Amino acid sequence: MDNTHDLDELLPRISLAEVSRANGAMLRRADSEHFSGDGAPTLTDLTECVFFSPGDGRIWLNDQRMQLVHSSSLGQLRRELVETLGIERARGLLTRTGYVSGARDAQLVRERWPESDIASVFMAGTRLHTLEGVARVEPVQFDFDIDRGYYSGEFLWHHCSEDDEHIAAYGVGTEPACWMELGYAMGYVTTLFGRLVVFREVECRATGASVCRVVGKNAEAWGDVSEDIRYLQAQDFAGLGAATHEASAAQPEPAYATSESPAEIDPHDVIGASAGFNSACHQLHRVAPTQATVLFTGESGVGKEAFARMLHRISPRSGQPFIAVNCAAIPETLAEAELFGVERGAFTGASASRPGRFERADGGVLFLDEIASLSLVTQGKLLRALQEGEIERVGGTRTLDVDVRVIAASNVDLRDEVDAGRFREDLYFRLNVYPIHLPPLRERRDDIPLLMNHFLHLAKRRHTRAPTGFTSRATRALLNYRFPGNIRELQNLIERGVIAAEDGAAIDVPHMFRSEQLDEHLLLAVGSGGGLDSVATPDAENAPLLEQIRRSQPAPQEGISLDAVEYRLLEEAVSLSGGNLAAAARLLGITRRQLDYRLKAARRRLTE
Ligand code: ZN
Repeated sequence: MDNTHDLDELLPRISLAEVSRANGAMLRRADSEHFSGDGAPTLTDLTECVFFSPGDGRIWLNDQRMQLVHSSSLGQLRRELVETLGIERARGLLTRTGYVSGARDAQLVRERWPESDIASVFMAGTRLHTLEGVARVEPVQFDFDIDRGYYSGEFLWHHCSEDDEHIAAYGVGTEPACWMELGYAMGYVTTLFGRLVVFREVECRATGASVCRVVGKNAEAWGDVSEDIRYLQAQDFAGLGAATHEASAAQPEPAYATSESPAEIDPHDVIGASAGFNSACHQLHRVAPTQATVLFTGESGVGKEAFARMLHRISPRSGQPFIAVNCAAIPETLAEAELFGVERGAFTGASASRPGRFERADGGVLFLDEIASLSLVTQGKLLRALQEGEIERVGGTRTLDVDVRVIAASNVDLRDEVDAGRFREDLYFRLNVYPIHLPPLRERRDDIPLLMNHFLHLAKRRHTRAPTGFTSRATRALLNYRFPGNIRELQNLIERGVIAAEDGAAIDVPHMFRSEQLDEHLLLAVGSGGGLDSVATPDAENAPLLEQIRRSQPAPQEGISLDAVEYRLLEEAVSLSGGNLAAAARLLGITRRQLDYRLKAARRRLTE
């Protein structure tokens, strides 16, 4: 490992004077309040600097050669560095790598946009970092004055890829993990600023925060930065033994097993590889061997029951029953009878005694979904059952001992329900021993391809159909869809697609989506000129699309006008073209002006 570079080599070769010369009469100070955000280089300007040269083995960011590297392979490298060098030295290496990358980008922006205002030049770093796929950078505030040597900035990093890899390897821990990104920020800003600016990650997803937050200040403003800059100083690390700096993070757990073999598909499998998913799995593995009550939270359709079943399957109670109850599906008046059972004659219709779900789950696991929908009275009885480990059937006089591990789930915030007086606080505390939050699908998009594959096989088997897979257009649509109904909605879309598509052909967009479900979206890919184009650019593949959509639309009912149908088709074309009107017009076989005119005319007629 080459540790001979020191900070001098990494520090900017551009001086303050050079920056101001290069920028002519540009302002030398700026702040976020007066920053319009539309000065060059915008994200689009920067995007236009990316060129793929597919036949030639090169990718360019302006004049810098780039490479597409799998995030997971970087994750593997990172993990090996940590394991062989220890966490401190690995962190140093990665911070310096990030620093070089940030410094290069700063040079690029300075050379390519010499006339731009200083705020836009500084903010281009956040945009490049975003464009390069590292994280989505959201500025919170910034304020700097080059003449006074003052810099202050605060940024949020959304879904940072290094965190994904860190969490996948080590789970959520106590130390921030965005080392390369911090290096990048320091490299970029320091290079432009001409003196050392130190960034610190004050909140990180690797420590359980929902988003990473970084704060940057000129070195003097921080006071003691020796801790920070030692990661930039390769020399200092030469003398550090790996043995004294072992990784302190938790031991990685094995990758999550889904099916024993591909032929054995279990509809209750829990599938995923994203950071959000891995984090939930780590928690699940930790709590499963205990007897603790677990509370799953998360939106409708995120897979709470599948997780509960998995917990049961890997818990010591796996040989015992798993009983699931959707509390919202039981009529209020029957809830107690359902949960605790009834004695014959307890009420009209109770012609025979029967056990409730608690008794049936004895020795095993009782899963109570949508627990917030239980009445306060039933909540009280549930609390007693949990505390005493005994129940009474409705109309009964005996108490029965039950040994049940309760797993609860809610798609509403139980704390809010407590505050609103709809949920007992004592029961809330009893259930909230070990909460596990399951993220919505739109926050774990990395898992969509895995889930697509899983649900495709499941639906093919269930309906004995044989579509070959998905068209590239269908894949793009699924990858970009917001999934308000989460995993359940993805499963439904694919099931619909499997039924609608022909055997031997691929599932296409109209097989799965109704036109109003598709959002406008922007995705960039290599265009014929080597630059990035919106992938919704029409091509021969799209030509019969409108015909398909037209056929797949339900027949117009009475009251639906021709105008409405035309408007829907126009909107559909615009949506499929990612909002690009020229592309939409080509798709429809009309000119851009005709499309414009028709859209306006249809809108006007519909609102009259
Ligand atoms: Zn982070």
